[in-house]
Amino acid sequence: MTISLDLVDYHIHTARCGHARGEMAAYVERAIRAGLPEMGFSDHIFLYWLPSDQRDPELAMSEEQFDGYVEEVLRLRREHPEITIRLAVEADFIVDQEQTLKAILDRYPWDYVLGSVHFIGDWGMDDGRYVSRYDEWDIDALYEHYFDLVLRAAESGHFDTMAHLDLVKKFGHRSRKDLVDLYARVAKRLAAAGVAIEVNTAGLYKPVGELYPHLDLLTACRKAGVPATLGSDAHAPEEVGRDFPLAIEHLRAAGYERIVAYEGRRQSWKSI
Ligand code: ZN
Ligand code: FE
Ligand code: FE
Ligand code: ZN
Repeated sequence: MTISLDLVDYHIHTARCGHARGEMAAYVERAIRAGLPEMGFSDHIFLYWLPSDQRDPELAMSEEQFDGYVEEVLRLRREHPEITIRLAVEADFIVDQEQTLKAILDRYPWDYVLGSVHFIGDWGMDDGRYVSRYDEWDIDALYEHYFDLVLRAAESGHFDTMAHLDLVKKFGHRSRKDLVDLYARVAKRLAAAGVAIEVNTAGLYKPVGELYPHLDLLTACRKAGVPATLGSDAHAPEEVGRDFPLAIEHLRAAGYERIVAYEGRRQSWKSI
């Protein structure tokens, strides 16, 4: 696949997180070969809210790896002037842990920070090992609760882009209610918070088999004026830029004509 548009892949992991594979240089080479002018590494931050002996090494990098991660991104940037490489991180939003997160994020020169809700309390809700815990919930109530956390994250000011906005659908659990009102409320508050969202192609390979976010939610975001960007959520080099033609169709179907890019946490625009 060669991508001829001026696109970005802003959601890329590395082996440091414990559940991705390949050398970071291989991700860069893949992006160059795919014709991407810009990419961003956004690996999982360490599980900063847990004591270090309770951090699952298969979910995120360790605290000790964090400096090395940043250094390697900056080194790859110097070694590969043929592609723009952004320094980013995918950080979890955890209620009552904001000062800890802020202190960590303030240490490095991020181009952007992806904000994610992967945890509801102590439940890793996107982790296949704990999928049975969906049964403990009324799914309509779970959707409300999940998006409430996403909005608190968006309004926290720590994040530039909210990752996989409707991750709650990952395993195919569907709200029985019409989500039009919920989506409109979410979009309005995201716009007011000044955050962007991403079209994330990894959902196509999850049980739900859909892009994140759903076209109705993406359309609500576009109408509310929420900027959008683009990510594969690659956990292997060959996944960089995966299904971007579908992502572009999705963005255009929602009415987007441009995507947002970041440098030093400042936005600029690229036409699609
Ligand atoms: Zn991951
Ligand atoms: Fe994630
Ligand atoms: Fe990710
Ligand atoms: Zn992700």
